[in-house]
Amino acid sequence: MSAPAPAFRFDPHQAPVAATERAERLIDPGFGRVFTDHMALIRFSDEKGWHDAQITARGPLPIDPASSVLHYAQEIFEGLKAYRLADGGTALFRPDANARRFRDSAQRLAMPELPEALFVESIERLVAADADWIPGGEGALYLRPFMFASEVFLGVKPAAEYLYMVIASSVGAYWKGGMRPISVWVSREHTRAAPGGTGAAKCGGNYAASLIAQKAAIAQGCDQVVFLDAAERRWIEELGGMNLFFVMDDGSLVTPPLTGTILPGITRDSLIALARNQGLTVREEPYAIDQWREDARSGRLVEAFACGTAAVVTPVGRVADTAGDFTIGTGGTGQTTQRLHQALNAIQRGQAPDPHGWLHRLT
Ligand SMILES: *Cc1c(COP(=O)(O)O)cnc(C)c1O
Repeated sequence: MSAPAPAFRFDPHQAPVAATERAERLIDPGFGRVFTDHMALIRFSDEKGWHDAQITARGPLPIDPASSVLHYAQEIFEGLKAYRLADGGTALFRPDANARRFRDSAQRLAMPELPEALFVESIERLVAADADWIPGGEGALYLRPFMFASEVFLGVKPAAEYLYMVIASSVGAYWKGGMRPISVWVSREHTRAAPGGTGAAKCGGNYAASLIAQKAAIAQGCDQVVFLDAAERRWIEELGGMNLFFVMDDGSLVTPPLTGTILPGITRDSLIALARNQGLTVREEPYAIDQWREDARSGRLVEAFACGTAAVVTPVGRVADTAGDFTIGTGGTGQTTQRLHQALNAIQRGQAPDPHGWLHRLT
């Protein structure tokens, strides 16, 4: 079935936030608290396919209490940023990769696959409507596409109706005053994803399942949780929402392979390409928690960092584990971590050449 792509209707907000108030909110927006005036919305039904595409005033949704997402969690999402570039233009970073991953997630959750061009168009149109909300400096406009089962039915089956939406949030510099290494807690009790499960899909349910471990990490005085594989409880997988890299003393990098239980991060993929461009060896291979401790103690491992769209790169300084705590390097931010972060950040903001064609310019 290939119905023609629906045309977008634009219903401008009748009372958008005043320019002075907006400027005020953009001074120190933090993350995920300041929202723009509009949202994108496209409906899907088995009967009509994708239809009713619109950019409209952002506001609450009427939700029937029997909407199936509220009961069976058929929901997926994405996260990407629009940046102000050094030359005054604006660009999205690799939206085509998010579009593809959104389709993969939809497939895993038995949801309809939004055509990639429609995904990108919905974001382009929302950013065009809310361009004044893109902060300058080190900030960005964080875009959150998502889709959920809106059918009013309590039977357990893939829903026949869905709502796809995009909302946007102005975010500030993540690393104000320089990078701060985080501490991580190794979860021995809980796992995030199992073989055959939804670990490689970006679905809300994965986060719901990870929160108890994240809470345990906080109780241990740590910032984030590290998940091990569900089968052997031995192999390092990722954090609740970020992929992990390990830097060895010979300059090579190791990151866990994408075997279906790890979310295929676009930041991860970009950093692998950049590291290889810089002449570094990157191995996608399993890395065991005991090996991590041993390598950190012997000095064979010199740096570790997490990565994802929100913070881009986050150094890991300390690991807390029931089998023994350890420090990574000197506990600070390593040189390779710093260098890779700067290289990616410079491309994202149009301050460096973009040899991979990752920037998607908006006109
Ligand atoms: C989104 C996400 C990441 C990071 O992906 P990016 O595309 O780099 O933002 C990593 N792990 C999980 C579980 C995620 O949901």
